[in-house]
Amino acid sequence: MGAQDCIFCKIVDGSIPSTTVHEDDVCIAFNDLTPQAPTHILLIPKEHVDSLAKTEANHKQTLGHLLLSSAQIARDKGFADDGYRVVINTNGDGGQTVFHLHVHLLAGRQFIFPPG
Ligand code: AMP
Ligand code: ZN
Repeated sequence: MGAQDCIFCKIVDGSIPSTTVHEDDVCIAFNDLTPQAPTHILLIPKEHVDSLAKTEANHKQTLGHLLLSSAQIARDKGFADDGYRVVINTNGDGGQTVFHLHVHLLAGRQFIFPPG
């Protein structure tokens, strides 16, 4: 069961549509509605977790799975060698707006560092 009124839980259960690019037993990946780069994919755990700030030792496998899946998608889609950026916005100062843990996978342009 996901968190009530969580839009990403609704994407997991299919009640809000998304353009799924990857799905397995642990996570789902889909295109961001407001892309900030030519490729902008979000990876989320199927299990609701508010944010990275709420993760604990029992989330170790899920967190590893999200990163490994990001790297796999980058290889599968052919942008791994050119490069990409993985971002986890966390809480207010981190710019998090949807409180269901998610990894942004961005590619297709040069990114600057530090981010704004
Ligand atoms: P953050 O600001 O890190 O919490 O990122 C939330 C992201 O979710 C933003 O990039 C939004 O564009 C994206 N987003 C919000 N609603 C949807 C949706 N229904 N489908 C796809 N992406 C969404
Ligand atoms: Zn959720």
